[in-house]
Amino acid sequence: MTAVRTRFAPSPTGYMHIGGMRTALFNWLWARHCGGEFILRIDDTDRARNVEEALEPILNSFRWLGLDWDEGPGVGGPHGPYFQSERGDLYREAANRLLAKGLAYRDYATSEEIAADRETAQQEKRPYLNIRRSLDLDQATLDEYAETGKPHVVRFLVPRDKTVVIDDAVRGNVEWNCGLLPDPVIQRGDGSPLYNFATVVDDAGMEITHVIRAEEHLSNTPIQALIYESLGESLPTFAHIPFVTAPGTSKKLSKRDLAKYRNNPQFKKMFERGDTVFPQLGLGDSETLNPVMVAYYEKIGYLPAAVLNALARLGWSLDDKTEILSLSEVKENFTLDRIVKNPAGLDPDKLFAFQSHWMGELPMDTKVSGCIDYLLRAGLIDSADDQMRTFVGRVIAALGDRLKLFSDILDAACFFKDEVEYDEKAFKKRIAKESVPPLLKQFQQERLSAIDESDWTTEHLEAELQSFATTHEVSPGLLIHALRIATTGQPVGPGVFDCLVLVGREKTLERIESALARVEAQA
Ligand code: GLU
Repeated sequence: MTAVRTRFAPSPTGYMHIGGMRTALFNWLWARHCGGEFILRIDDTDRARNVEEALEPILNSFRWLGLDWDEGPGVGGPHGPYFQSERGDLYREAANRLLAKGLAYRDYATSEEIAADRETAQQEKRPYLNIRRSLDLDQATLDEYAETGKPHVVRFLVPRDKTVVIDDAVRGNVEWNCGLLPDPVIQRGDGSPLYNFATVVDDAGMEITHVIRAEEHLSNTPIQALIYESLGESLPTFAHIPFVTAPGTSKKLSKRDLAKYRNNPQFKKMFERGDTVFPQLGLGDSETLNPVMVAYYEKIGYLPAAVLNALARLGWSLDDKTEILSLSEVKENFTLDRIVKNPAGLDPDKLFAFQSHWMGELPMDTKVSGCIDYLLRAGLIDSADDQMRTFVGRVIAALGDRLKLFSDILDAACFFKDEVEYDEKAFKKRIAKESVPPLLKQFQQERLSAIDESDWTTEHLEAELQSFATTHEVSPGLLIHALRIATTGQPVGPGVFDCLVLVGREKTLERIESALARVEAQA
């Protein structure tokens, strides 16, 4: 048996689409499951772009997720080049072979002629097929055209009496009547190849055994199958996988609909989070990095394990109930017959649940490194020595499972900054109301300032607060809320006594003073 070889063939678009990443992952998984090879090939025939620049974010997403490739950019391989822009000779040679065998033809029809033919077909209510007038030209005319360089394209000559049957690994048997297929251009006037042709020349030349790709390419498959045959190559197995839809919709996830996604109930939170986090990191906003792109998830602090888990479950399942899967578990169990036919909806809530799970699995040291990266980039700390690592570890422990994404550490800025940023609404509600300031002041004077540095622990602080509340017959809640706002500025966060310990004795006392002074100044 020949070794399984799969490929992913992205165009360098400047970003990696999350749905494209899922296609790439399925190809990777199938190759790895079978002990085969996974190839990256770059569809860069559109030369308007700066390929290197536009490819880098794509390769980065592969690296971030830990998906390696055996042949392709950066690693080379025996079937190169792996950039279509460097394979021109191979396409020209293949086109010439088909021309020589009469399986393709030079078409001199002008666009006006073709438009008129289409119009007639429409009026006669029949599908348009090429009239193939160029096939009737005599040799003298052809020679003259060749000599004068008359503009033309090369078309594949579709055998109209045939039926193409594909046994698609996902969709089962699919049939096409070739009598309905126009002759596709395989080579433009300037000698450059078109997608259907270049893809087959490459897939055949690279000995690809399984073409796993988005279902939108199913309609390209009959032409590709015919081209394979005309080149004397055997067909790979095709697997057309369902497209990834936007959350809660049946429409394909697309960057074109980005503006709409802001109001998509599930995406909304992601955009809002992006708008909070990305500017702090100097990464623009959630327009530049949005949830259609893999980079969004990376930059906002998701774990590769969570994203891989979510991608694997987009249209593939192990059984009815298993949701949490590591990459190696998926790899071990990945077979094409478990791919579903229905569109698979990206589900941010589920992804978030995967993230919670995989974050929970991380050793503290890894969490510390992940968070430190964000603190450094946001300028909240400027170095990460052992003492800082220990402190970040304590903040993470206090946050507990409130820390879902690495960027969540930025919500704990109050433990790293000198200044407190108050949530104004919370400040008004919890501190700046009549009975609270005198109470807070009294608690500070009678109790907090009397506690030694060595007794500044959650247990001790809690006991002092409870005893103060009992003595003065006040609700402990009043003080708890006030202390939280005074020391962290925020209405939510770790337990209040954890906050006081993290802020430290001296700073806690200072912050309470400032909060009280602020109330007075506002009065
Ligand atoms: N560059 C094509 C795409 O991104 C590749 C399609 C294929 O896999 O054949 O859609």
